[in-house]
Amino acid sequence: MATSPGTEITFDVRPTSHPVPQADRERMLEAPGFGQVFTDHMITIRWTAGRGWHDARLEPYGPLILDPATAVFHYAQEFFEGLKAYRQADGSVATFRPWANATRMNGSARRLVMPELPEEAFVRAIELLVTQDLDWVPFAESHSLYLRPFMIATDRGIGISKPSQSYLFMIIASPASTYFSGGIKPVTVWLSEDYTRAAPGGTGATKCGGNYAGGFIGQLTALENGCDQVVWLDAVERRWVEEMGGMNMFFVYGSGPEARIVTPPLGGTILAGITRDSLLKLGPDLAIPASEGRISVDQWRADCASGELTEAFACGTAAAISPIGQVKGATSGWTIGNGEPGPVTTKLREELLGIQFGRRPDPYSWVHKIC
Ligand SMILES: *Cc1c(COP(=O)(O)O)cnc(C)c1O
Repeated sequence: MATSPGTEITFDVRPTSHPVPQADRERMLEAPGFGQVFTDHMITIRWTAGRGWHDARLEPYGPLILDPATAVFHYAQEFFEGLKAYRQADGSVATFRPWANATRMNGSARRLVMPELPEEAFVRAIELLVTQDLDWVPFAESHSLYLRPFMIATDRGIGISKPSQSYLFMIIASPASTYFSGGIKPVTVWLSEDYTRAAPGGTGATKCGGNYAGGFIGQLTALENGCDQVVWLDAVERRWVEEMGGMNMFFVYGSGPEARIVTPPLGGTILAGITRDSLLKLGPDLAIPASEGRISVDQWRADCASGELTEAFACGTAAAISPIGQVKGATSGWTIGNGEPGPVTTKLREELLGIQFGRRPDPYSWVHKIC
């Protein structure tokens, strides 16, 4: 039993007797893609009203057996998180800002009336799973182990008069290469003018499954129009750029020593990305002033036409930083800069990945060593 300091939660460690054979694992690690391959183990912790958190385990990865009337299937009381473990330059393994994920997860929990998990238990669970499945953390350049914590409502019954009285928290892990097929070549984005992702007072600031279910139609429309990703606009005026399906956005104004970056303010409808927050801090350190500011679609187009807006990029844990080359909408379309990855985007990407992979100094102690 591994104890978790600062909490009552104690993990029962039950390793599998049938791990994936080494040769198979190595083959899977060659080109894992994103979210297709899973490791040998998972974390499970249960919560019930009156008893709180209990039965914390590290156990063999495998299917769940749930009653068809389980609450999560009907009312989507669910949220998730996403972070990565990175193979460091010296061969050790570290995660990036896991405490920030723990804090954000508990924000999702409060909004969805689900139990908060002590942050120490969250980080301890990450450490346990990564340590157990260390051989699954890729060595290949820019590959990593994606960690997916999530929580589901497990009450049996389809009454809707009150939230579930029992929950299951889990973490699974998946080796990942690049998120967008095609590496870091610029993405083309589709402006969603018919559908919106998040309205004021809603759940846009949480990583709850329903946000993504509601967003697939926008993503599908993007693909049908030859684009890679959807860009969501605000739900009230339908003109302010908010974010993409699973990534925040930044705009670069000016160039050379005059370059600065701007990202839309959070305001309750945008997911508070940890990558976004990191770039707001790293930009100024690289002499690139960073600020929050609203940008309308018309402004975006006009500033590209005048040459003031020189680059744009999307950012998130899964793909780090992706340059945006082209924008398309039902009635308009334009190119950002020359459509190629710009120098500011490239510089920020190298700095962020450099810190995450232990190749650059870590001035804010964001890198959390595991072993
Ligand atoms: C997860 C997510 C992000 C990025 O958050 P990170 O913490 O940087 O990975 C941005 N937008 C949405 C909608 C997301 O789900």
